[in-house]
Amino acid sequence: MRILIDMDDVIADAVERFLEWYERDFGIRYTKEDLKGTKLHFIVPEEHRKIVKDYPHHPDFFKDLPVMENSKEVVEELNNRFEVYIASAAMEFPYSLPHKNNWLDEHFPFIHWKRRIFCGDKSVLKGDVLIDDHDFNLSVFNGRPIMFSASHNLNETKYERLDNWLDAEKLFDLK
Ligand SMILES: [Mg+2]
Repeated sequence: MRILIDMDDVIADAVERFLEWYERDFGIRYTKEDLKGTKLHFIVPEEHRKIVKDYPHHPDFFKDLPVMENSKEVVEELNNRFEVYIASAAMEFPYSLPHKNNWLDEHFPFIHWKRRIFCGDKSVLKGDVLIDDHDFNLSVFNGRPIMFSASHNLNETKYERLDNWLDAEKLFDLK
């Protein structure tokens, strides 16, 4: 079984970086609770919207992102049993490429470079399972799409879901 796993907001906490940088720039600390069903740029004052949307284009945005809880251990177990690929639409943010690769070296060194896909449109991906936080990636996948819960997708009801990585252990019968 080939399992494709997204990076941002699935194994790397990009939402947290948005919240950190917004606090750094504007002194207001929003929480993930505040973002239920939406993204930060939709709830900040209009004049901050573009600045927030542009954060991921900054060369340092993807550097040192926090690792999602339990993702390392569970992805390693999955990788021992199945054909695991990490698939990120990194081309949207070209500066992210070396950071994402270094990040995987540091936190997911068991993912061989041949199993790292930095792509554009994810509809080219082929596999049995895709774990991703975005409808626009899951809806074009022709295997089994699984939505990884993130603040911005909590109102989406179309997909089978994983709320956290410990649930993935159960879903894939790892324990
Ligand atoms: Mg993502």
